[in-house]
Amino acid sequence: MSHELVPYPFADPADAAGWAKLDVVGMQAALAMARAAAQAGEVPVGAVVLDARGVVLGQGFNRCITDHDPTGHAEIVALRDAAARMGNYRLPGLALYVTLEPCAMCMGAMMHARLARVVYGADDPKTGACGSVLNLPSLPQLNHHTEVVGGVLAQECAAALQEFFRARRQAAREARRLRCERGTPD
Ligand code: ZN
Repeated sequence: MSHELVPYPFADPADAAGWAKLDVVGMQAALAMARAAAQAGEVPVGAVVLDARGVVLGQGFNRCITDHDPTGHAEIVALRDAAARMGNYRLPGLALYVTLEPCAMCMGAMMHARLARVVYGADDPKTGACGSVLNLPSLPQLNHHTEVVGGVLAQECAAALQEFFRARRQAAREARRLRCERGTPD
């Protein structure tokens, strides 16, 4: 990872208001990662792993295209970053923030990591595995450890994706227009 870790000091997340504040701070950090993904030409999904004080212990963004890796989702990249830093493949007591509802692969990996909390932003009606398509965390046979919360800064998270795809469609239209002007076929 070339991006520096950004510490987010946080007072006392033991109460509900504290969690709500930590959730916003965590999601803003995940959104910063999503913007880094967009700059790299990747679908803008970002994730961070925080401890209960709000210190960032891992971070990542979607890298599937860059790394030729179908498993290169933001959550997997952030989990690997945090696990390496902690020297442990299990991450109990930590929370992962991600801008888009996790898919089945990522939700499985996050349950294996025994994260305390997973907090996501926008729903994903295509591959979301926290209620949109599947609901893995609700299965007691699978999930003994991980609380899942959705909809934190959902509009901002969805807007980052919508803007990325809007710009990509516009670039494709422009490329078609230039080909037409030059008379070169598609
Ligand atoms: Zn995923």
